[in-house]
Amino acid sequence: MTDRYAVIGNPIAHSRSPLIHRAFADQTGQDLSYEALLGPLDTFTPFVRDFFAAGGRGLNVTLPFKEQAYALCDVLSKRAQQAGAVNTLMRGKDDRIYGDNTDGVGIVRDMTQNHGWTLAGKRVLIIGAGGAVRGVMGPLLAAGIASLRIVNRTPEKAETLAALFKGEGDVAAVRYEDLEPGSVDILINGSSASLSGELPPLPAGILADGACAYDMAYGKGELPFMAWARGQGAARVSDGLGMLAEQAAESFYIWRHVRPETAPVLAMLRELVAKG
Ligand code: NDP
Repeated sequence: MTDRYAVIGNPIAHSRSPLIHRAFADQTGQDLSYEALLGPLDTFTPFVRDFFAAGGRGLNVTLPFKEQAYALCDVLSKRAQQAGAVNTLMRGKDDRIYGDNTDGVGIVRDMTQNHGWTLAGKRVLIIGAGGAVRGVMGPLLAAGIASLRIVNRTPEKAETLAALFKGEGDVAAVRYEDLEPGSVDILINGSSASLSGELPPLPAGILADGACAYDMAYGKGELPFMAWARGQGAARVSDGLGMLAEQAAESFYIWRHVRPETAPVLAMLRELVAKG
């Protein structure tokens, strides 16, 4: 019997997840369906429970429901607990609902496996303090980075996030004006500034020799952050399309215990995004 999966969000029409997961299913010969569901804003939890009661096997969850998905789970992975949000739901054989968050492993895999960047021992600065940043902090720290600094337009939010991860490594909040020259080996833009064509107010000269810069956002053409990083001498620069493919692959693996190849799917996404 065909197993049923879906992505749920509101809005949802823009989601690339059905395309990605159908490509993974074709590639690995898995018998599954995957659709996009418009989640009801005031009755998300009963909607999800109905999906699983009707035999649904798994859901990806996107904005604005990741925290509500977290709250409805019977069992949460450590990654989900650290993120305080869930992007992958699964009904277990015991009929309990399991929640995980694959965003962090997605960015780590894209950086290390797709791009060949080294994270171990590096000084990482991450911009932003929203859901995406919280989701990737645990896996970045687990990858053995030397230190993690968080800078955000609203500094209090960076301080709150840093406090949450205090026991996990060398983590602290910093202010834009206090960033020191040559102090960053890996710079990650986890703010939503790129979505409106803006650039966070980064001082010049903060990148160390050989630094890498990663924007979690993606879109047609080069993002302002990527252009800025190149201008600042970054050795390697990437957008977040690979993170999108890798977090999806991890969800697929959780559900199906089969790891799809992301390279062909990423190439397909790259073509679509280039068309706009
Ligand atoms: P949130 O809305 O939760 O957080 C946005 C953050 O960006 C806040 O910290 C906000 O600061 C900051 N910000 C917004 N505008 C600016 C600006 N002009 N200058 C400086 N800082 C700014 O968003 P998310 O955390 O959900 O998403 C962040 C980014 O990550 C988005 O670009 C999203 O597309 C991307 N993303 C990519 C994924 C992928 O798979 N590639 C997965 C998930 C997210 P303040 O606190 O002051 O408001």
